Amino acid sequence: MTTVYFVIPCYNEEEVLPETVKRLTDKLEKLIHVGKVSTDSRMLFVDDGSKDKTWSLIEGFSSENRYAAGLKLSRNRGHQNALLAGLMTARKYCDCAISLDADLQDDINVIDQFIDKYNDGCEIVYGVRSSREKDSAFKRGTAQGYYKFMKMLGVEIVYNHADYRLMGSRALEALSEYKEVNLFLRGIVPLIGFRSDYVYYERSERFAGESKYPLKKMIKFAVDGITSFSVKPLKIIFNIGIIVCLLSIIFFIYAIVSFAAGSSAAGWASTICSIWFLGGVQMLCIGIVGTYVGKIYSEVKRRPRFTVEKLLIHQDSETE
Ligand code: UDP
Ligand code: MG
Repeated sequence: MTTVYFVIPCYNEEEVLPETVKRLTDKLEKLIHVGKVSTDSRMLFVDDGSKDKTWSLIEGFSSENRYAAGLKLSRNRGHQNALLAGLMTARKYCDCAISLDADLQDDINVIDQFIDKYNDGCEIVYGVRSSREKDSAFKRGTAQGYYKFMKMLGVEIVYNHADYRLMGSRALEALSEYKEVNLFLRGIVPLIGFRSDYVYYERSERFAGESKYPLKKMIKFAVDGITSFSVKPLKIIFNIGIIVCLLSIIFFIYAIVSFAAGSSAAGWASTICSIWFLGGVQMLCIGIVGTYVGKIYSEVKRRPRFTVEKLLIHQDSETE
């Protein structure tokens, strides 16, 4: 029978955790009851260096609830790294892992469908939002623009899919081979391949607490997504370079013609324009190149993406 692990990254989630544990335990018990998953299934809570009582709550749950397991990172490493840490830990114990947020925004009623698709032979199942009505107009607009932009840059991502997905152990094994430090999981997972499918769901409001993704983090995440997966910006620089060269030839011809006509002193405006224009283009290009150089820098350092401090998992040999 399938052993499933729910992997839930948590950063300062004390307000929502008790309810999350309650609902997920309920879900897991039902799945076990109908014989869909084995009793070895667990919910693995990854504490991403929370500053509140999140870890002590997880410790408490893991001592009283046999299905609750905990993994504590030594400090805050961000959602994507916490998720990776959880998946790479779960991989050793499970047949498939489902990643979801701690705030109950992802509809847990579709978990049955995830598991059905896995049992039908899918190695990766993507949770896709069927609508974005509950988002603010700003979030909806920026998110959709972003997906389109990514597509234009040739990045393969699943439209309206965040990190609510099922991955089988083979997919997780493949994921472990991706050694990059600037993690953007929703870009990596489609690269893995295997048979995959989609499950549609409505995303609800956060159950309690505040978003741990302020605008600043979101922009960094969006930029990471582009610069880790697309070299098109470099090609654009090349194209701008060609265009600027062509323009300068035209300027050159213009300058010679006006010199011959005896009106070369009137060139002040065009000179100042081109200085500003070229200065701007150069700065922009250097900025883009710099972003990539920065990436190379962090990739070659090969720093560990997470450091595990503790691991709490009930295993039958210990509890029975
Ligand atoms: N999260 C995390 N580390 C962080 C930020 C967020 O583990 O540094 C977790 C958070 O606890 C939640 C998930 O990532 O389970 C998604 O965060 P959130 O719900 O705040 O993002 P939003 O839904 O607002 O985009
Ligand atoms: Mg959320």
